[in-house]
Amino acid sequence: MKLKHLFAILLCCLAISATAATPKYVFYFIGDGMGPGQTMTTANYYRMALGDTAGLPMMSLPVNSYVTTHSYSSPVTDSAAAGTALSTGHKTRNGMIGMSADTTVVYSVAKKFHDAGYGVGIITTTAADDATPSSFYAHVPNRNMFYEIGRQAGESGYEVIGGASLRGTNGGNNDLMSYIESCGVEVVKGIEAMRKSDSRRVLLLPDVYVDNNDIGYAVDSIAGALTLEQMTSATIDHLMKHTPEGFFIMAEGGSIDHACHSNDGGTAIRETIAFNEAISRAIDFYKERPDETLIVITADHETGGMTVGNGHTGYNYYPQYLVPQKASKSSFSRYCDKLTHDKTPITWEEMKQVLTEKFGFYTVVPISDGDDKRLQHAFRKAFIEGSDERTQSLYSNIGSFSNEVFDMLNRIAGVGWISGSHSGNYVPLFAIGVGSELFMGQNDNTRVPVKILKAAQLDD
Ligand SMILES: [Zn+2]
Repeated sequence: MKLKHLFAILLCCLAISATAATPKYVFYFIGDGMGPGQTMTTANYYRMALGDTAGLPMMSLPVNSYVTTHSYSSPVTDSAAAGTALSTGHKTRNGMIGMSADTTVVYSVAKKFHDAGYGVGIITTTAADDATPSSFYAHVPNRNMFYEIGRQAGESGYEVIGGASLRGTNGGNNDLMSYIESCGVEVVKGIEAMRKSDSRRVLLLPDVYVDNNDIGYAVDSIAGALTLEQMTSATIDHLMKHTPEGFFIMAEGGSIDHACHSNDGGTAIRETIAFNEAISRAIDFYKERPDETLIVITADHETGGMTVGNGHTGYNYYPQYLVPQKASKSSFSRYCDKLTHDKTPITWEEMKQVLTEKFGFYTVVPISDGDDKRLQHAFRKAFIEGSDERTQSLYSNIGSFSNEVFDMLNRIAGVGWISGSHSGNYVPLFAIGVGSELFMGQNDNTRVPVKILKAAQLDD
């Protein structure tokens, strides 16, 4: 009887210590546009094309579940409403940031961590004032109010905010940057500058500017461009220096979405790999502090209705044909535009060589006689006759020859697409660490931040 009693007390103590365990370090990774198709085309690329049997790092984590993404106003969310749900736990209308549907200001999990004394880092491969990152520090009825969003970034008090640009500065033609500096934030350009800075609060921007909307696609291998992996490592080190007692980091792989808006399969896969390289840094951190770390990875929505396999490949997928790709659809289109703009003469034979160098066409990627005729026809129209029918997607404007090349690459590799927009498909969630068991089973997006706060015992 006495022994039984002792055992009961022991169990009780164990239960208390189990519930008392809270993460000191929380990583929240959001793959923008990363649905099941983006995840599985990449996982198969890893396994089949690269021969990596260990698989995608995020998929190896013990918790694999899923998240529903509908917004207050639509079954198909945008990144503003999805970001607000993932950051604050409130559904809102598409386009709104950090406000519920009736425009009541609602606060993010990042602010709650910050108020509780944790250091906070909000980093993305897209603009630092884009919908997902701004959902963690701003409150505006329209996601395009970049000036107001930028001011609120300064006012947030967060230790790190970083991304490809801050669009609200309007190219330096207003007082936004000086306002942010007056809030006690040092603007650092590039990773080295961030590592050298002694300031507790930094705004990280690229030293090699690529684009307002992206730090530069991984597939384009732009010399000196930021990577999410570098940004994540530098943010971990920065926060361990200034707030070693605890931190919250939100890292967004935002360019997955941009590649999917233009139905660029190989680029979406490389972005998902780059996202996983950043996640690997968090997993390394977790391995050193397994009892103090929580990692949660999910997406805000799916983009493009991307699938493994399409009508052309039937019951198959050939990711090896995407391995030689060395240019994103938007950078290849810009390359073609420059040729046309500069009136640089180019023959079909020369372009054929370019297609081999940049995409492995005719060598790795099998181009049939019919495909070759289609390419030549598109080449003639765009470069000889000068009639270029362009396709505008959310983040790119693509010429007709580039569209033909990428449609062909998707078709032959077996990457399927439904649209250039978001879909209402559910998205995956992966987790490991203290409190990760809370994320098992189905989650609505509004539940994810609630569970993060619960894990940290910051829910009230
Ligand atoms: Zn999008």
